[in-house]
Amino acid sequence: MMQPFHPPQRTLMGPGPSDVNPRILQAMSRPTIGHLDPSFIQLMDEIKSLLQFAFKTANALTLPVSAPGSAGMEAVFVNLLEPGDKAIVCQNGVFGSRMKENVERCGATAVVVQDQWGEPVDPAKVEKVLAEHPDARLLAFVHAETSTGVRSDAQTLAALAARQGVLSVVDAVTSLVGIAVETDLWGIDAVYSGSQKCLSCAPGLSPVSFSPRAVERIRSRRTKVQSWFLDMNLIMDYWGSGARRSYHHTAPVNALYGLHEALCILAEEGLDAAWQRHRLHHEALVCGLEAMGLALHVAPDCRLPQLNAVIIPEGVEDAGVRASLLRDHGLEIGAGLGVLAGKIWRIGLMGHACNTRNVLFCLAALEDALARTGASILRGQALAAAHGRYARA
Ligand SMILES: *Cc1c(COP(=O)(O)O)cnc(C)c1O
Repeated sequence: MMQPFHPPQRTLMGPGPSDVNPRILQAMSRPTIGHLDPSFIQLMDEIKSLLQFAFKTANALTLPVSAPGSAGMEAVFVNLLEPGDKAIVCQNGVFGSRMKENVERCGATAVVVQDQWGEPVDPAKVEKVLAEHPDARLLAFVHAETSTGVRSDAQTLAALAARQGVLSVVDAVTSLVGIAVETDLWGIDAVYSGSQKCLSCAPGLSPVSFSPRAVERIRSRRTKVQSWFLDMNLIMDYWGSGARRSYHHTAPVNALYGLHEALCILAEEGLDAAWQRHRLHHEALVCGLEAMGLALHVAPDCRLPQLNAVIIPEGVEDAGVRASLLRDHGLEIGAGLGVLAGKIWRIGLMGHACNTRNVLFCLAALEDALARTGASILRGQALAAAHGRYARA
């Protein structure tokens, strides 16, 4: 006989999923109701307005796609692009490459603006490419590159697109809640996120938002959206307002209880307070890492507080250290991806996991794991350095 599955106790400080707030898990265990039940419709309306709050937008078309962040990405591209269109895609890590892949699978052409992994998207290059391709339908970029720990200047990039009359598409999967995402103020036309990063929810939902300009584009398509499931024209009939609501697919009812709770928790804290909390714990973590003799991969002015890329010291075996963190401390941190595999660790400080206890715990565990591999690090300094930052808070 198979036994029920009981997951081991972990602290999730990688690139996501991040630790889920117990309040959210509790919410998800409440009884399932019908997805067209009047109470559920009310819950959907509340989720929409809470998502508008989180994205800082008045966009009517703001809802959670019933699938993880990758589906939010795909939803944006399949709805906004038609075969033969041209799209400018910025690539400075793993997720920019996935955007390019999505563009091409829509039958559109991708014009790529390339930057180094570990560097932000260069607005000067984007400006030049926009001028060379005035016929481009959209400009797409990743706000918070989870593969490298880099923040790009979303405000400047969205403004460049708007000036050319090109739609801006922003991947905010890791940025939302961790750093400022100002959808309306920055003039973003389509933005998507994920439930399991700084929202600290279980994985499996992707909040998206489309500006009126983007909705106009979707409504005036010549061809059908290639994906039935992700076609916003159809989803609007289910998530739209009023009595018109009709069955499209069965909403993940309990997952949406969880998202609602996550957004309530966010509203209680406030967005500004959440951004400040991420910054504070990031700074304390960096103080501790540097006191140990470790260095970060990303320049200070474009570091993500919620995703810290740490350079693996010369001669230290990447997988061995991560295995020891997991085995001895129950701590999960992320490995490097692509060209950064074996070169960096990715320490997440996302949402509920972004707190003093986790910062101190991670520093102590990392010091222990490194010392046991014989790495030449400075011992006994990291916690004091982190406390020093907290004392100045
Ligand atoms: C995690 C992530 C995604 C993909 O989200 P999934 O929920 O894993 O599908 C997309 N973009 C970025 C920047 C991410 O960090």
